[in-house]
Amino acid sequence: MNFSSDNASGASDKVLAAIAAANAGIAMPYGVDPWTAAAEKALCDLFERDCAVFLVPTGTAANALALACLAPPWGAIFCHENAHVVNDECGAPEFYTDGAKLIGLPGERGKIAPDTLARALRAYPRGLVKQVQPAALSLTQATESGTLYALDELKELAGLAHAAGVGVHMDGARFANALVWLGASPAEMTWKAGVDVLSFGASKNGTLCCEAVIFFDKARAADFAYRRKRAGHTLSKGRFLGAQVTAYLAGGHWLELARHANAQAARLAQGLAAIPRVRLPFACQANEVFAIVSRKAETALKAAGAGYYDWGARGLADADALRPDEVFIRLVASFATREEEVDQFVASVRSHT
Ligand SMILES: *Cc1c(COP(=O)(O)O)cnc(C)c1O
Repeated sequence: MNFSSDNASGASDKVLAAIAAANAGIAMPYGVDPWTAAAEKALCDLFERDCAVFLVPTGTAANALALACLAPPWGAIFCHENAHVVNDECGAPEFYTDGAKLIGLPGERGKIAPDTLARALRAYPRGLVKQVQPAALSLTQATESGTLYALDELKELAGLAHAAGVGVHMDGARFANALVWLGASPAEMTWKAGVDVLSFGASKNGTLCCEAVIFFDKARAADFAYRRKRAGHTLSKGRFLGAQVTAYLAGGHWLELARHANAQAARLAQGLAAIPRVRLPFACQANEVFAIVSRKAETALKAAGAGYYDWGARGLADADALRPDEVFIRLVASFATREEEVDQFVASVRSHT
């Protein structure tokens, strides 16, 4: 039973096979190869737009380098206070922007509310020399609490940002999971809602080590190739990145993988919700389940070797505050999660609650 993270799973067999197939013969290095060109075209087709696409090996590189194209060193980057960019990237966004300031905003269930953003924008007026200047808004979809911004919510937040001259970045580490849950098209969940730059996550959902940075406004991408190379994130054997993305997207494979992960998370959420005294403070809207369980059940789960994270009290509203005999845990399902693991986990919580 392992629900520690979706990147605890390996890569999809189809992606691995594509990497092996790309091994044959000679190809030009540094992304000037047919596999990379095919991946770029596939992403432009998918997003129904002529985009600037760059492949990178990690999500941290995608986020930090994308933000560096939106924010100058004296810029302010607004994000949720629990966002990966501000908590889990060891200062990479600050480093690659040459010092921009990340400003974490509070918000229930992992989401920034429009009022909160509007207040933050007012608190950093343009032209006030003693303060960093509003430059970027980074939204995580699905959020760090496993919830989603609806399309209207994305539009409203992006509208506020654009009205203040602020670019909009989406951290889509779990883009596929969010997309299949909303039933939206990739275009609808991004540029049609006002997103300027997307970190298109894929590693958590089945590639070996490949994500894409997608600029919907190509003018914003002018410096990206230099920034990526300078950061040491331009792979010489770029064909292996291209091969991963092409296989990941082909025939809707990525959507199948995400549907499976989401279905397992939904099964887990339903099973846990049916147990008296277990509480699920956040709606399960993608592939993550957040549960408040008894300490007794948690001890038994640990003894059984189950993998998951103790989430402290991160993101919990006052109404959901933990009692001393409770633990708040995060459970993530992946494309490789098996139904038996889910059922065994639920049964274990049930029998110890
Ligand atoms: C996993 C994750 C990333 C990317 O992390 P890497 O380990 O650098 O690939 C980015 N954002 C979010 C929200 C994530 O969960």
